[in-house]
Amino acid sequence: MQETRPGAGMDVPRFSGIATFMRLPHLPPERAEGVELGLVGVPFDLGTTNRPGARFGPRALREAASTLRRLNGATGVDPFALARAADLGDAPVNPADLADSLVRIEAFFDRLVTRGIVPLAAGGDHLVSLPILRALARRYGPLGMVHFDAHTDFYDRYFGGARFTHGTPFRRAVEEGVLDPRRVVQIGIRGTLYDGEDVAFARAAGVRIVPIEELVDEGREAIVAEARAVVGDGPVYVSFDIDALDPSQAPGTGTPEIGGIGVHDAQRMIRALDGLDLVGADLVEVSPPYDVGGLTAWTGANLLFELLCVLARAVARRRGDGAVTGAPTD
Ligand code: MN
Ligand code: MN
Repeated sequence: MQETRPGAGMDVPRFSGIATFMRLPHLPPERAEGVELGLVGVPFDLGTTNRPGARFGPRALREAASTLRRLNGATGVDPFALARAADLGDAPVNPADLADSLVRIEAFFDRLVTRGIVPLAAGGDHLVSLPILRALARRYGPLGMVHFDAHTDFYDRYFGGARFTHGTPFRRAVEEGVLDPRRVVQIGIRGTLYDGEDVAFARAAGVRIVPIEELVDEGREAIVAEARAVVGDGPVYVSFDIDALDPSQAPGTGTPEIGGIGVHDAQRMIRALDGLDLVGADLVEVSPPYDVGGLTAWTGANLLFELLCVLARAVARRRGDGAVTGAPTD
Protein backbone atom coordinates (compact mmCIF):
# COMPACT_ATOMS: atom_id res chain seq x y z
CA MET A 1 0.00 0.00 0.00
CA GLN A 2 1.30 3.40 -0.96
CA GLU A 3 1.67 6.18 1.58
CA THR A 4 -1.45 8.35 1.29
CA ARG A 5 -0.91 11.03 3.89
CA PRO A 6 0.90 14.35 3.79
CA GLY A 7 4.35 14.59 5.22
CA ALA A 8 4.48 15.76 8.81
CA GLY A 9 4.76 19.53 8.67
CA MET A 10 6.76 19.71 11.88
CA ASP A 11 9.44 17.34 10.62
CA VAL A 12 10.03 18.94 7.25
CA PRO A 13 9.13 22.61 6.66
CA ARG A 14 5.99 22.96 4.63
CA PHE A 15 7.67 25.28 2.13
CA SER A 16 10.35 22.79 1.20
CA GLY A 17 10.38 19.97 -1.31
CA ILE A 18 8.49 19.48 -4.55
CA ALA A 19 5.03 21.03 -4.42
CA THR A 20 2.06 18.67 -4.48
CA PHE A 21 -1.53 19.26 -3.39
CA MET A 22 -1.51 19.24 0.44
CA ARG A 23 2.04 17.73 0.33
CA LEU A 24 0.44 14.43 -0.57
CA PRO A 25 2.51 11.78 -2.30
CA HIS A 26 2.44 12.09 -6.07
CA LEU A 27 1.20 8.82 -7.55
CA PRO A 28 0.45 8.31 -11.23
CA PRO A 29 -2.99 6.67 -11.62
CA GLU A 30 -1.48 3.30 -12.51
CA ARG A 31 0.19 3.25 -9.07
CA ALA A 32 -2.81 4.60 -7.17
CA GLU A 33 -3.68 1.25 -5.67
CA GLY A 34 -5.97 1.75 -2.69
CA VAL A 35 -6.36 5.51 -3.24
CA GLU A 36 -9.91 6.69 -2.49
CA LEU A 37 -9.61 10.40 -3.14
CA GLY A 38 -7.54 11.72 -6.03
CA LEU A 39 -6.42 15.32 -6.43
CA VAL A 40 -5.86 16.13 -10.09
CA GLY A 41 -4.73 19.22 -11.97
CA VAL A 42 -6.33 20.04 -15.31
CA PRO A 43 -4.04 22.60 -16.99
CA PHE A 44 -6.44 23.58 -19.75
CA ASP A 45 -7.84 26.96 -20.82
CA LEU A 46 -8.84 26.59 -24.46
CA GLY A 47 -12.46 27.09 -23.37
CA THR A 48 -11.70 30.62 -22.18
CA THR A 49 -13.59 33.31 -24.10
CA ASN A 50 -11.96 36.38 -22.58
CA ARG A 51 -8.77 36.58 -20.49
CA PRO A 52 -6.75 33.32 -20.55
CA GLY A 53 -4.25 31.85 -18.11
CA ALA A 54 -6.20 29.21 -16.16
CA ARG A 55 -3.90 26.56 -17.67
CA PHE A 56 -1.38 27.77 -15.09
CA GLY A 57 -3.86 27.26 -12.25
CA PRO A 58 -2.82 23.76 -11.15
CA ARG A 59 0.83 24.73 -10.61
CA ALA A 60 -0.06 27.84 -8.62
CA LEU A 61 -2.65 25.91 -6.59
CA ARG A 62 -0.17 23.12 -5.85
CA GLU A 63 2.38 25.60 -4.60
CA ALA A 64 -0.14 27.35 -2.38
CA ALA A 65 -1.76 24.10 -1.20
CA SER A 66 1.57 22.55 -0.30
CA THR A 67 1.78 24.83 2.72
CA LEU A 68 -1.59 23.83 4.21
CA ARG A 69 -1.66 21.89 7.48
CA ARG A 70 -3.59 18.66 7.81
CA LEU A 71 -6.41 19.49 10.25
CA ASN A 72 -9.44 21.65 9.56
CA GLY A 73 -9.28 24.02 12.51
CA ALA A 74 -12.96 24.96 12.31
CA THR A 75 -14.57 21.53 11.95
CA GLY A 76 -11.89 19.30 13.42
CA VAL A 77 -11.93 17.17 10.28
CA ASP A 78 -8.68 15.40 9.39
CA PRO A 79 -9.40 14.44 5.78
CA PHE A 80 -6.29 12.26 5.53
CA ALA A 81 -7.41 10.11 8.45
CA LEU A 82 -10.80 9.60 6.77
CA ALA A 83 -9.75 8.77 3.21
CA ARG A 84 -6.63 7.57 1.46
CA ALA A 85 -5.63 10.48 -0.76
CA ALA A 86 -2.92 11.25 -3.29
CA ASP A 87 -1.91 13.83 -5.87
CA LEU A 88 -2.50 11.94 -9.11
CA GLY A 89 -0.76 14.56 -11.23
CA ASP A 90 -2.29 16.40 -14.16
CA ALA A 91 -4.86 15.12 -16.61
CA PRO A 92 -3.40 15.05 -20.14
CA VAL A 93 -4.35 17.94 -22.41
CA ASN A 94 -3.57 19.00 -25.96
CA PRO A 95 -2.98 22.76 -25.97
CA ALA A 96 -3.40 22.82 -29.75
CA ASP A 97 -6.75 21.02 -29.87
CA LEU A 98 -9.78 21.68 -27.69
CA ALA A 99 -11.80 18.64 -28.79
CA ASP A 100 -8.86 16.28 -28.35
CA SER A 101 -8.25 17.73 -24.88
CA LEU A 102 -11.82 16.96 -23.84
CA VAL A 103 -11.38 13.37 -25.01
CA ARG A 104 -8.10 12.99 -23.10
CA ILE A 105 -9.43 14.58 -19.92
CA GLU A 106 -12.55 12.42 -19.96
CA ALA A 107 -10.50 9.25 -20.49
CA PHE A 108 -8.23 10.16 -17.57
CA PHE A 109 -11.12 10.72 -15.16
CA ASP A 110 -12.91 7.68 -16.52
CA ARG A 111 -9.98 5.54 -15.35
CA LEU A 112 -10.14 7.05 -11.87
CA VAL A 113 -13.91 6.80 -11.53
CA THR A 114 -13.93 3.22 -12.80
CA ARG A 115 -11.56 2.36 -9.95
CA GLY A 116 -13.84 4.07 -7.47
CA ILE A 117 -11.51 7.03 -6.89
CA VAL A 118 -13.38 10.22 -5.96
CA PRO A 119 -11.86 13.09 -7.97
CA LEU A 120 -11.06 16.57 -6.68
CA ALA A 121 -9.92 18.58 -9.69
CA ALA A 122 -8.08 21.89 -9.89
CA GLY A 123 -8.61 23.77 -13.18
CA GLY A 124 -8.23 24.96 -15.69
CA ASP A 125 -11.17 26.88 -17.06
CA HIS A 126 -14.72 25.80 -16.38
CA LEU A 127 -15.05 23.67 -19.49
CA VAL A 128 -13.00 21.01 -17.67
CA SER A 129 -16.06 20.21 -15.55
CA LEU A 130 -17.81 18.70 -18.57
CA PRO A 131 -15.48 15.74 -19.22
CA ILE A 132 -15.29 15.09 -15.46
CA LEU A 133 -19.08 15.06 -15.17
CA ARG A 134 -19.32 12.71 -18.16
CA ALA A 135 -16.98 10.24 -16.47
CA LEU A 136 -18.86 10.44 -13.16
CA ALA A 137 -22.30 10.10 -14.78
CA ARG A 138 -21.18 6.89 -16.46
CA ARG A 139 -20.80 5.41 -12.98
CA TYR A 140 -23.48 7.19 -10.97
CA GLY A 141 -26.10 8.25 -13.53
CA PRO A 142 -27.36 11.84 -13.84
CA LEU A 143 -25.82 13.99 -11.13
CA GLY A 144 -27.01 16.81 -8.94
CA MET A 145 -24.68 19.79 -8.57
CA VAL A 146 -23.98 22.62 -6.19
CA HIS A 147 -22.34 25.25 -8.36
CA PHE A 148 -20.70 28.43 -7.06
CA ASP A 149 -20.10 30.96 -9.81
CA ALA A 150 -20.77 34.50 -10.98
CA HIS A 151 -21.99 32.97 -14.25
CA THR A 152 -24.47 30.23 -15.08
CA ASP A 153 -22.22 28.70 -17.78
CA PHE A 154 -25.48 27.67 -19.44
CA TYR A 155 -24.94 29.46 -22.76
CA ASP A 156 -25.55 27.51 -25.96
CA ARG A 157 -23.00 28.86 -28.45
CA TYR A 158 -20.24 31.47 -28.68
CA PHE A 159 -19.09 33.45 -31.71
CA GLY A 160 -21.54 31.74 -34.01
CA GLY A 161 -21.08 28.03 -33.59
CA ALA A 162 -18.66 27.30 -30.74
CA ARG A 163 -20.52 24.81 -28.54
CA PHE A 164 -17.65 24.02 -26.17
CA THR A 165 -16.39 26.99 -24.12
CA HIS A 166 -16.17 27.74 -20.41
CA GLY A 167 -19.54 29.44 -20.78
CA THR A 168 -21.34 26.31 -22.04
CA PRO A 169 -20.33 23.24 -19.99
CA PHE A 170 -23.58 22.85 -18.08
CA ARG A 171 -25.75 23.40 -21.17
CA ARG A 172 -23.95 20.45 -22.76
CA ALA A 173 -24.09 18.44 -19.53
CA VAL A 174 -27.88 18.84 -19.31
CA GLU A 175 -28.33 18.03 -23.03
CA GLU A 176 -26.21 14.92 -22.62
CA GLY A 177 -28.11 13.80 -19.54
CA VAL A 178 -25.08 13.81 -17.23
CA LEU A 179 -26.63 16.54 -15.05
CA ASP A 180 -30.19 16.42 -13.74
CA PRO A 181 -31.16 20.12 -14.00
CA ARG A 182 -33.87 19.74 -11.34
CA ARG A 183 -31.07 18.81 -8.90
CA VAL A 184 -28.77 21.72 -9.79
CA VAL A 185 -28.38 24.89 -7.74
CA GLN A 186 -26.20 27.83 -8.79
CA ILE A 187 -25.09 30.29 -6.10
CA GLY A 188 -23.62 33.76 -6.57
CA ILE A 189 -24.86 34.50 -10.09
CA ARG A 190 -24.43 38.15 -11.11
CA GLY A 191 -23.00 40.61 -13.59
CA THR A 192 -23.85 41.76 -17.08
CA LEU A 193 -25.31 39.28 -19.54
CA TYR A 194 -25.07 38.78 -23.29
CA ASP A 195 -28.82 38.35 -23.67
CA GLY A 196 -30.12 36.31 -20.72
CA GLU A 197 -30.66 33.22 -22.85
CA ASP A 198 -28.50 31.19 -20.46
CA VAL A 199 -30.68 32.08 -17.46
CA ALA A 200 -33.88 31.46 -19.41
CA PHE A 201 -32.74 28.00 -20.52
CA ALA A 202 -31.55 27.00 -17.06
CA ARG A 203 -34.71 28.16 -15.30
CA ALA A 204 -36.94 26.46 -17.87
CA ALA A 205 -34.99 23.23 -17.30
CA GLY A 206 -35.60 23.46 -13.55
CA VAL A 207 -32.24 24.77 -12.32
CA ARG A 208 -32.41 26.78 -9.10
CA ILE A 209 -30.46 29.99 -9.67
CA VAL A 210 -29.54 31.99 -6.58
CA PRO A 211 -28.39 35.48 -7.60
CA ILE A 212 -25.91 37.15 -5.28
CA GLU A 213 -28.59 39.60 -4.18
CA GLU A 214 -30.71 36.72 -2.87
CA LEU A 215 -27.75 35.16 -1.08
CA VAL A 216 -26.95 38.44 0.64
CA ASP A 217 -30.58 39.15 1.55
CA GLU A 218 -31.53 35.66 2.72
CA GLY A 219 -28.20 34.67 4.26
CA ARG A 220 -25.98 31.70 3.60
CA GLU A 221 -27.69 29.35 6.06
CA ALA A 222 -31.08 29.63 4.37
CA ILE A 223 -29.55 29.30 0.91
CA VAL A 224 -27.46 26.24 1.80
CA ALA A 225 -30.47 24.60 3.45
CA GLU A 226 -32.39 25.09 0.23
CA ALA A 227 -29.44 23.87 -1.86
CA ARG A 228 -29.30 20.68 0.19
CA ALA A 229 -33.00 20.13 -0.40
CA VAL A 230 -32.62 20.76 -4.15
CA VAL A 231 -29.83 18.20 -4.64
CA GLY A 232 -31.43 15.72 -2.22
CA ASP A 233 -30.06 12.28 -1.43
CA GLY A 234 -28.64 11.37 -4.83
CA PRO A 235 -25.04 11.71 -6.05
CA VAL A 236 -23.82 15.31 -6.05
CA TYR A 237 -20.94 17.15 -7.69
CA VAL A 238 -19.60 20.45 -6.35
CA SER A 239 -18.15 22.92 -8.81
CA PHE A 240 -16.51 26.07 -7.48
CA ASP A 241 -15.61 28.77 -9.99
CA ILE A 242 -13.22 31.11 -8.17
CA ASP A 243 -14.98 34.06 -9.84
CA ALA A 244 -17.92 33.36 -7.52
CA LEU A 245 -15.81 35.25 -4.97
CA ASP A 246 -15.59 39.00 -4.95
CA PRO A 247 -12.70 40.10 -7.18
CA SER A 248 -11.26 42.13 -4.30
CA GLN A 249 -10.57 38.75 -2.64
CA ALA A 250 -9.87 36.72 -5.79
CA PRO A 251 -8.60 38.99 -8.56
CA GLY A 252 -6.66 36.30 -10.43
CA THR A 253 -9.40 35.07 -12.74
CA GLY A 254 -10.42 35.62 -16.34
CA THR A 255 -13.96 36.94 -15.98
CA PRO A 256 -14.27 38.88 -12.72
CA GLU A 257 -17.62 40.31 -11.64
CA ILE A 258 -17.99 42.83 -8.81
CA GLY A 259 -20.16 42.29 -5.76
CA GLY A 260 -19.32 38.65 -5.16
CA ILE A 261 -19.25 36.11 -2.34
CA GLY A 262 -16.88 36.73 0.56
CA VAL A 263 -14.22 34.13 1.34
CA HIS A 264 -15.61 33.45 4.79
CA ASP A 265 -19.12 32.78 3.47
CA ALA A 266 -17.61 30.47 0.83
CA GLN A 267 -15.78 28.45 3.49
CA ARG A 268 -18.92 28.14 5.60
CA MET A 269 -21.11 27.14 2.65
CA ILE A 270 -18.71 24.40 1.55
CA ARG A 271 -18.53 23.03 5.11
CA ALA A 272 -22.34 23.04 5.23
CA LEU A 273 -22.43 20.57 2.30
CA ASP A 274 -21.22 17.88 4.70
CA GLY A 275 -23.50 14.86 4.70
CA LEU A 276 -24.53 15.05 1.03
CA ASP A 277 -23.63 12.11 -1.21
CA LEU A 278 -20.66 13.95 -2.74
CA VAL A 279 -18.98 12.02 -5.58
CA GLY A 280 -16.52 14.63 -6.87
CA ALA A 281 -15.66 18.32 -6.96
CA ASP A 282 -13.60 20.90 -8.76
CA LEU A 283 -12.22 24.38 -8.24
CA VAL A 284 -11.67 26.21 -11.51
CA GLU A 285 -10.75 29.49 -13.21
CA VAL A 286 -7.75 30.51 -11.10
CA SER A 287 -5.63 32.46 -13.60
CA PRO A 288 -2.19 33.21 -12.11
CA PRO A 289 -1.20 35.83 -14.75
CA TYR A 290 -4.00 38.05 -13.40
CA ASP A 291 -3.32 37.27 -9.75
CA VAL A 292 -2.01 39.79 -7.23
CA GLY A 293 0.67 38.49 -4.90
CA GLY A 294 -0.63 34.93 -5.20
CA LEU A 295 -3.81 35.88 -3.31
CA THR A 296 -6.22 33.99 -5.57
CA ALA A 297 -4.14 30.81 -5.62
CA TRP A 298 -3.85 30.97 -1.86
CA THR A 299 -7.59 31.39 -1.48
CA GLY A 300 -8.30 28.69 -4.06
CA ALA A 301 -5.97 26.25 -2.30
CA ASN A 302 -7.76 26.76 1.00
CA LEU A 303 -11.14 26.23 -0.66
CA LEU A 304 -9.75 23.04 -2.24
CA PHE A 305 -8.93 21.93 1.29
CA GLU A 306 -12.50 22.64 2.43
CA LEU A 307 -13.78 20.60 -0.52
CA LEU A 308 -11.33 17.83 0.36
CA CYS A 309 -12.69 17.71 3.91
CA VAL A 310 -16.34 17.24 2.89
CA LEU A 311 -15.37 14.76 0.16
CA ALA A 312 -13.29 12.71 2.61
CA ARG A 313 -16.26 12.59 4.97
CA ALA A 314 -18.46 11.32 2.12
CA VAL A 315 -15.87 8.68 1.20
CA ALA A 316 -15.67 7.44 4.80
CA ARG A 317 -19.44 7.43 5.14
CA ARG A 318 -19.92 5.34 1.98
CA ARG A 319 -17.25 2.96 3.24
CA GLY A 320 -19.44 2.48 6.31
CA ASP A 321 -17.09 4.15 8.74
CA GLY A 322 -19.10 4.30 11.96
CA ALA A 323 -17.02 7.19 13.25
CA VAL A 324 -18.47 9.47 10.61
CA THR A 325 -21.94 10.29 11.78
CA GLY A 326 -23.73 13.58 12.11
CA ALA A 327 -22.22 16.85 11.07
CA PRO A 328 -18.87 18.18 12.23
CA THR A 329 -19.06 21.18 14.50
CA ASP A 330 -18.84 24.49 12.71
MN1 MN B 1 -17.78 29.21 -14.50
MN1 MN C 1 -17.57 32.30 -13.73
